[in-house]
Amino acid sequence: MKIVIVGAGAMGSRFALMLHHSGNEVTLIDGWPENVAAIKKFGLRAQFNGKSVVAKIPIYQLDQVQQLQNYQADLLIAFTKSNQLEATFDKVKTLIGPNTYVLCLLNGLGHEAVLQKYVSVDHLILGITLWTAALSGPGQAVLIGTGNVELQNFSPKGKEFTLQVEKVFAAAGLNPQYSDNVKYSIWRKACVNGTLNTLCSLLECNIKELGQTSFAPTLLKEIIAEFAAVAAHEGINLNPDEVYQHVAVAFTSDSAEHYPSMYQDLVQNHRQTEIDFINGAVWSKGQQYKIATPYCALLTQLIHAKEELLQQ
Ligand code: NAD
Repeated sequence: MKIVIVGAGAMGSRFALMLHHSGNEVTLIDGWPENVAAIKKFGLRAQFNGKSVVAKIPIYQLDQVQQLQNYQADLLIAFTKSNQLEATFDKVKTLIGPNTYVLCLLNGLGHEAVLQKYVSVDHLILGITLWTAALSGPGQAVLIGTGNVELQNFSPKGKEFTLQVEKVFAAAGLNPQYSDNVKYSIWRKACVNGTLNTLCSLLECNIKELGQTSFAPTLLKEIIAEFAAVAAHEGINLNPDEVYQHVAVAFTSDSAEHYPSMYQDLVQNHRQTEIDFINGAVWSKGQQYKIATPYCALLTQLIHAKEELLQQ
């Protein structure tokens, strides 16, 4: 399959390597000049479960996508951060032809609204992934452990192609699963990010330390209740008790000493976070539906205040 990955960060690199190694024609597009330069010069380098691998994968700087003008990809996979999605797709929209499908695997809520500006609903695929990835520098990924992908076409017409993508992902070892209700899974994952990522970033602690505070159960339950109330308005029925158990398992899991990606973005790297697409999306949808979301409103504002302080 001809696959263009938009966003050659940690996750884009993982998917690029795995799809390249299984024989697909993979092309990368990225907006971070140092990253593009490193991948052009040295290839895409990774520590893949402890083993050094290098793959020569073509990469284009976001501002130079016109060089790919006549390239007709079958699938474009979005792997930017949420806050980069719209500006990035404004630049790559010329690559989306009538037969191109777009798969979104970003964390967070509301990406389908952004992507519908660039691709028809029949060619839009939504998903979530439990694979993880990190960058140790430009063009260098650290890929440890295992994961899976859940995906579903946004409109019924896209099912046939989505099943083809499932086969291609299976051949790449990405453990895909066709979902009957990917929107539910997206909301359930957003609850994990909207609790663990946001609270660890504000409290500057890892997941285990958050779980050891006496306030964790109440905070999690209040936040999840807001997500569930807003999701219900969109026809997604989250069970708050089940979601709480699902999130709280992380406190004692093997990765409990992990610092969530929002912590890494904000506290370690002083980058903008995806908060507007997690708690911020719940706050904004809550205002629209007249549902009170005081926890999400406060958390969103605190994260933005911290972004301002750290970026000064
Ligand atoms: P990432 O930050 O590694 O990459 C996203 C974009 O930011 C890329 O274009 C990358 O080149 C650029 N970038 C990265 N570091 C930069 C820097 N220091 N300066 C300038 N630009 C930089 O993001 P990611 O981890 O690949 O995540 C992509 C999406 O996948 C997000 O929505 C994320 O929430 C989601 N996700 C991530 C993981 C994970 O383990 N990393 C797991 C599941 C889902």
